[in-house]
Amino acid sequence: QFYTSTIQDRSLRKVRLENHLHHALEQQELILYYQPQVHIESKEIIAVETLLRWIHPTMGLISPEEFIPLAEEAGLIIPIEKWVLKTACTQAGIWLKKNKTLKIAVNLSARHFQQSSLIETITRTFEETKIDPTQLELEITESTAMKDPELTIKILNSLKSMGVSISVDDFGTGYSSLNYLKRFPLKKLKIDRSFISDITSDQEDEAIVSTIIVLAKSLHLEVVGEGVETKEQIAFLKRLGCSIVQGYYYSKPLPGTEIEKILSKGFLT
Ligand code: C2E
Ligand code: CA
Ligand code: CA
Ligand code: CA
Repeated sequence: QFYTSTIQDRSLRKVRLENHLHHALEQQELILYYQPQVHIESKEIIAVETLLRWIHPTMGLISPEEFIPLAEEAGLIIPIEKWVLKTACTQAGIWLKKNKTLKIAVNLSARHFQQSSLIETITRTFEETKIDPTQLELEITESTAMKDPELTIKILNSLKSMGVSISVDDFGTGYSSLNYLKRFPLKKLKIDRSFISDITSDQEDEAIVSTIIVLAKSLHLEVVGEGVETKEQIAFLKRLGCSIVQGYYYSKPLPGTEIEKILSKGFLT
């Protein structure tokens, strides 16, 4: 009885969300939060990652973990991510006037990454927002990159020739071939939070993180530790050779107005 009602509740919630998601964009219920990537040594903010939020009129704040899969199923992910790209780049254009070296990172779904109009969408975004292509970082997961590796190489080369850089998100959680990793023109590997959370106590996690850092360096990639929450994790990552982190320890994802206050200082404490 208990289980059936839970499953019913869940599918009811899903249907309610899915039905309303069609209107979320036009009704301006989607908003962007931003989380800094921080250089451990200088405490400088080198990039901000754009993270989508949905404020549902009656159900409140909905996590992207919940509604992005629904948007993908409903075929709404591309219009949503086009909006994210444009809004994030417009915002970045304002911040970049003061922080010339700041990068803006935007997550890209597999479907959007493989969409034939992606390059055109991005070109138009640059025309409309006037940001420099070198200030945009696109984050794709390992599984997105590995869906069709030869196609990925083509797309990544086009993006690279525009000046856009690419990060591999949630690194370590998916399957990726070292052979392709070498052939993909990448800029950054982001080590998934699941390896970072117990890094100070779990020797296997330590070994994995340490290996990813060595791998990144030998491929001349920057490496970012995701989801850092404690001073100890930061000290540990630093000792292993990782110099950039992102996580609650420095800042949770925040609305643009809040991030702007932090950015105007230029560094975190
Ligand atoms: P992600 O790209 O791996 O983003 C990092 C997630 O970890 C964010 O969750 C962030 O709030 C959370 N996080 C950061 N630091 C910490 C920490 O110290 N501790 C803990 N416990 N969590 C931390 P969020 O914002 O809920 O986003 C979840 C996922 O939704 C993202 O994971 C990303 O995969 C996806 N997402 C968000 N925005 C977009 C988007 O515009 N497009 C696509 N395709 N996916 C998006
Ligand atoms: Ca990400
Ligand atoms: Ca991630
Ligand atoms: Ca994640």
